[in-house]
Amino acid sequence: MIWDRRYECMEREEMAQLQLERLQSTLNRVYRNVSFYKKRFDGLKILPDEIQSLKDLEGFPLTAKEDLRQSYPYGMFALPLRDVVRIHSSSGVTGKPTVTGYTRNDLHHWSQLTARVLTAGGITKDDVVQITFKYGLFTGAFGLHHGAELIGASVIPMSTGNTAKQVLIMQDYKTTALVSTPSYALLLARYMEAEGMDPKNLSLKLGLFGGEPCPEPMRREIEERLFIRATDNYGVSEVMGPGVAGECERKNGLHLNEDHFIPEIIDPQTLKVLPPGAEGELVLTTLSREAFPLVRYRTRDITSLDFSPCSCGRTLARMKKVLGRSDDIIIVKGVNVFPSQVESILMEVEGVEPRYQIIVDRVEGVDTLEVRVEVHERVFSDEIKNLQNISSKIERKFREIIGVTAKVKLVAPESLQPREGKAQKVVDRR
Ligand SMILES: [Zn+2]
Repeated sequence: MIWDRRYECMEREEMAQLQLERLQSTLNRVYRNVSFYKKRFDGLKILPDEIQSLKDLEGFPLTAKEDLRQSYPYGMFALPLRDVVRIHSSSGVTGKPTVTGYTRNDLHHWSQLTARVLTAGGITKDDVVQITFKYGLFTGAFGLHHGAELIGASVIPMSTGNTAKQVLIMQDYKTTALVSTPSYALLLARYMEAEGMDPKNLSLKLGLFGGEPCPEPMRREIEERLFIRATDNYGVSEVMGPGVAGECERKNGLHLNEDHFIPEIIDPQTLKVLPPGAEGELVLTTLSREAFPLVRYRTRDITSLDFSPCSCGRTLARMKKVLGRSDDIIIVKGVNVFPSQVESILMEVEGVEPRYQIIVDRVEGVDTLEVRVEVHERVFSDEIKNLQNISSKIERKFREIIGVTAKVKLVAPESLQPREGKAQKVVDRR
């Protein structure tokens, strides 16, 4: 099923023309209405009218999260607040949160785009959709909520927490589709197992996951334990929220809504645009946002783009599942290592927890990489030989998949969890 055939299956040439027209209008609007962009463009002596092709976008400056923070709260809005009907914000775990606003048209587009993503994930008007994202300033719940209603599905706005009640409602209200983070889906599976419930007895058949990376082994585990078909979706709260990209039933990349966002891939170090197919940081320019347009916004997410048409019929470019964040890259002996890659490796090894700590050091001028991994209780009290088998298996996967040599040290369960605060996944002693 395709929600909006006209745009989702548009010929590449026609799409490029549409993007160019919308880009010209966006650049003109931000130049006129947002002093941050006027100053930036003037500083570089570029005028929005000079843009003749999509390629010219490369000459425009990038926007960073820091720029948004410095304009906190409303400095980068392109319209006065009387035209804004909704305000959301990012969590602001580190530093000030970023604020984004929506006009009535923005909300209309947002619902359309999340309806596309939900439809691509298999959700129809016959589904009962349980949303377990937090309803509040965070964009996830409201964005997908309105898209699901637009499709005509029955929406249960559960919000987060209270796992026992989530499961009870799932059972009694006959939920068919779960919208959550992938880790919460696993938590639900574990809860049901511990309570002696069989997920097969539920009506659940679909899962739409987002809010955090969902590596392939994690998806497989969710599908096997909950007996559902799981798809991944991608959003950026500053840019819109969910609705930026979503997987189709082919599960071969996330279709990015190019009629509303122009994607570019840059090298996070040199900031140069990379050719199609190359891996790098995703940069997005909004094409329809009225209240909060963004030009070349650095998402910090690492991915690559595939512009070939998909066998599902959609022509929208597909972005690879996000590998990690450019701020999290650890460069060891010149090789990029992402914490998310380490997680996927560990999830494929029997007997270990996905809890780990990476320790990078430099000995006599050479980088060293040590990975401490928690093992299950029963494995920890096992024979030394079995422990050695596990660590050499992980070491081999590091060489094969990431391309670096790592020394693996297995540690007792719960030993990497600090008494308070967040566990430190990477310790760089260089
Ligand atoms: Zn597809």
